[in-house]
Amino acid sequence: MPPPQKPTPKKAPALPDHKTIAAQFAAAKRAKEEEDTADTPPPTAPPAPIEQQLQSTARERRRANLEAARKKAYQSRWAWTAGFWVWLLCVHAAGIAYFTSGFLLTRLVLEEKSACDAPPTANITSASTSSSGGSPRELLLPAWEGKGTVDGGCWHPRTFERAVVVVIDALRYDFTVPVGDGEAFHDAFPFLWETAVRAPERAFLRPFIADPPTSTLQRLKGLTTGTLPTFVDVGSSFSGTAIEEDNLLMQLRDAGKRLVHLGDDTWESLFPGYFEGNLSRAYDSFNVWDLHTVDNGVIEHIFPLMDRKSEWDLVIGHCLGVDHAGHRYGPNHPEMTKKLRQMDGFIRDLAATMDDKTVLIVMGDHGMDSKGDHGGESDDEVEAALWMYSPKGIFGRTKPEYVTPPATAKIRPVNQIDLVPTLALMMGIPIPFNNLGRPIEEAFAGAAGNSWANLAAAERMTAAGIKRYQTSYFTARGIEQSSAPGSPGELWDKAEALISKGKKQDWNAIFVAFAAYQEETLHKCKALWARFDLKNMVMGIGIMALGVVALIVYVSQGEDDDAIDDEEMDAAEKSLELQGVKPDATAALSNALEKRLVKAASLGALPVFIGGVISSFVSGAGDWYRGSGLAALTSIAAVLVSMYEVQETALKVVPKTIWGWMAVVFTVSQSIGFASNSYTIWEDSILLFFITTFGFVAALSALRLPPGADRYLAIYHSVVFVLLGRLASFSKLCREEQMPYCTSTYYASATSSTSAPWQLIIPFLGALILPSIIKAYLQPSRSYEGLAPAWIGYVFRTGLFISALYWVLDAADNGNWIPGLPDKTLKNISVYTAQMVLGLALVAGTTAFMWAPPCVSIITSASPSQPTKAQVAILGYANAHGARYLLLPLNLLAACILLSKPMGAGALALMAWQMLALLEVLDLNNLTTSPIGPIMLAVLGTFHFFKTGHQAVLSSIQWDSAFIPLFTIRYPYSPFVVALNTFAGQILATAAVPLLVLWKAGPKRKRLLEAVSRALGVFVAYFAVESLATMAWTGYLRRHLMLYRVFNPRFMVAAVVLLVVDLVGIVVSLAGVRCNTMAIGDVFGWAE
Ligand SMILES: [Zn+2]
Repeated sequence: MPPPQKPTPKKAPALPDHKTIAAQFAAAKRAKEEEDTADTPPPTAPPAPIEQQLQSTARERRRANLEAARKKAYQSRWAWTAGFWVWLLCVHAAGIAYFTSGFLLTRLVLEEKSACDAPPTANITSASTSSSGGSPRELLLPAWEGKGTVDGGCWHPRTFERAVVVVIDALRYDFTVPVGDGEAFHDAFPFLWETAVRAPERAFLRPFIADPPTSTLQRLKGLTTGTLPTFVDVGSSFSGTAIEEDNLLMQLRDAGKRLVHLGDDTWESLFPGYFEGNLSRAYDSFNVWDLHTVDNGVIEHIFPLMDRKSEWDLVIGHCLGVDHAGHRYGPNHPEMTKKLRQMDGFIRDLAATMDDKTVLIVMGDHGMDSKGDHGGESDDEVEAALWMYSPKGIFGRTKPEYVTPPATAKIRPVNQIDLVPTLALMMGIPIPFNNLGRPIEEAFAGAAGNSWANLAAAERMTAAGIKRYQTSYFTARGIEQSSAPGSPGELWDKAEALISKGKKQDWNAIFVAFAAYQEETLHKCKALWARFDLKNMVMGIGIMALGVVALIVYVSQGEDDDAIDDEEMDAAEKSLELQGVKPDATAALSNALEKRLVKAASLGALPVFIGGVISSFVSGAGDWYRGSGLAALTSIAAVLVSMYEVQETALKVVPKTIWGWMAVVFTVSQSIGFASNSYTIWEDSILLFFITTFGFVAALSALRLPPGADRYLAIYHSVVFVLLGRLASFSKLCREEQMPYCTSTYYASATSSTSAPWQLIIPFLGALILPSIIKAYLQPSRSYEGLAPAWIGYVFRTGLFISALYWVLDAADNGNWIPGLPDKTLKNISVYTAQMVLGLALVAGTTAFMWAPPCVSIITSASPSQPTKAQVAILGYANAHGARYLLLPLNLLAACILLSKPMGAGALALMAWQMLALLEVLDLNNLTTSPIGPIMLAVLGTFHFFKTGHQAVLSSIQWDSAFIPLFTIRYPYSPFVVALNTFAGQILATAAVPLLVLWKAGPKRKRLLEAVSRALGVFVAYFAVESLATMAWTGYLRRHLMLYRVFNPRFMVAAVVLLVVDLVGIVVSLAGVRCNTMAIGDVFGWAE
């Protein structure tokens, strides 16, 4: 809509650069000044022309000097502000590191190894042995041929010479039993069940329960060492390190056995140099896009080995197709059916090649959740399957009803660590020293199911090993053994006493007694390793809490006089400065705040930290970080003292308006809520409630505005804000604990991780509508000018459109829509498409943002009153800061939209719209300096974390997003991409924080940097309080049943989000503001 009062608008070129606009602006200003001097005749006689000329050049020079000085002062202020934020990031990192180091499970790794000729039963002295005149071991089992050698069996008679172990990654138990509900993942792999039912002496099938965390690396450690994982290891899932502890493969290798490995290369990194190089084949394990390479490789290379059984003793085949199908599509997909059928055929063929000397073991290392992912400890994730097969026919059941495999994983499950003693005893090697598992009944019960002596002997040998380990562990840690009723010590004595009853002994009872001992010891060990270092935890919480106090005091500094927008004052100040008078003292003092704080922080921290480094160097302990906790505390204290000197009152911290109170209530009630598991589970719904409440109160408050357009606009934007939140809440990804009161809509179905075809329309709608919405928010302030139309209308829209196309290509690839196409064609096209969008958004976008002139246009038109004179208007002047800065979060938005699934793209588009509505609501209600703005942005960011298909559980990390712009895992890109996918909501909100200050701010607005830093402070305070609260509650509830399911994952999310928000705040928000202010200052002169 052209302005009616300007008859012939002559627009400047579409994309003017800085110089053009600056020149136009300067010319216009000069014209105005000349006009002014002409209008007001000078009181005294005009000076001589030369004198006048000299005077004006001198003034120009002084003006230029002043501009340069202001620019320099700004740059130094910015550096000190950034320094303050870097310090805060360090404080947060220190607090989190201290807390986690005290919280995570720790287990002392013992160096001892089991030896063939030293069975753990050898030096057990009990009263029974003397009376019966022999060693109790012989009472259980008569001596066997080759006893004490690997060929005969070190500790137990050997059953098999060779073993073939096939790991089918993520083989959930229900995939292997008849269910009959027609799901794609059921009844496609019947071979295991069939054999167990048809020939129970040849095969058995049981649920196989993993200890969390359910990542393959952790599981392989448990499956070979027989011990429990420590939670802290989960982070190293990307880079497996060699296992140093005693384990099955080490025992086999040391006994001279030849090991062959095929498939998942995690084995190679855990057991480097163990495998026969000429027979083994390792394949990349992280390419979840690829369902077939690893499996086909295993199948291709395993069958030739079966014809040459004399060349190896153990073959491990690790198939990844089922796991990858789960990650890529979710279980409920035709590809999963195909994959399970393929595995069925593979195991069928492999079983046919077995002989009496070889045992075939098929197992899943973990399960998968309803969308095909894993990592946490929900039932679906820990319930895998275990199947053993041998034509020798030695497997037995102690009860007839055990012949049919359990219908669900809740019945008769075995622990995954139980495989370790079972396989060791079957193959004649010693049980690894650290083992805590027990022998699996079926493998030792004999075909008739009544070999109780054999069972009892195996159980006692294993229990003796556990006892030896436990004694060794307790000695190493200086823990007293207990012999109280029910303690492992007492259970052991009871079991040993049963043996001493001589010939009337009941093997069954002995077996049960030792099993009880094993179970209780395992329980004790779990509790023991879950010991917490309270000192470190309290230290972490203390650092965090003091950090929050410092942040709150910081944000309450002088918020009243921030962001001054007064042209007259600016002019007055400038003329004073031109005359050589220094600017007022208060401004200088306030400007120096960050500088003072950074200096105080360094003074407080460095001596302690350096002292710690020196003392660790002197003691040679290598823990250079030992002083960091104390250093963090002293530096916060120094900062607080320094702020107290400036402000001298704590009363400003108390909110004075309803908005301030609302900000406090939203933040604090969240923090209290994290103490309850149901609150934590339903967090997404509660955030929606906050959003609605804010919109409702804002609409009510708008009624107090004077009647007119502003009032209606304020109500309109408040309503839009609420409605969009409601719309976004349609996108849901439920966590297991929300069932059955929640329906997932994020994917095609609850058991899928691909999008439904109709969802593919959402990104196209986004491309169509979102740029127009943004335009509509820029037009009222006339700031859809300069670079904005080209960038938002074309580049941004094109980016969104291409990413919508990406998801169509992806769906076509997943659904095999074009059957004739060569393999990987669609994948190739889609990866390059995605790279193009990311290049456009992040590389071109950042460059454009850095060099873009302000989004203004200078219009010169004939003055209506004096047609000979030109009249100058600057379009977009009033929103010069905001409109230009907006381009930065938009670039990030484009990247995040590409990296989120179609539903997530829709949620993020709604979030962008909500943020713009929020800016208008705040502006119209005069709330731009209120803490409610940053807090609502933080709430929005967290809300959309949930709406983009995430939950505060490990398994909701969308690892497959790493493959959107890449074919394989590449550092540092892959973690960066996954982070952008996971924290898109919070990252966008952080990038948008400066808009709270810059929106509708003209070029002459002063002290924007300070105002932005304060707003960022409030915003970060929300996340800091959240992580402090989750930290405190996790520490307090550390013995709670739901610790690892609910509280710990929530703390981990809060901690990572805080660090991400700190980092993005520095490298995007603050850096963006600097860039923006420089661009505006270069054109309009320096206001700061
Ligand atoms: Zn996996």
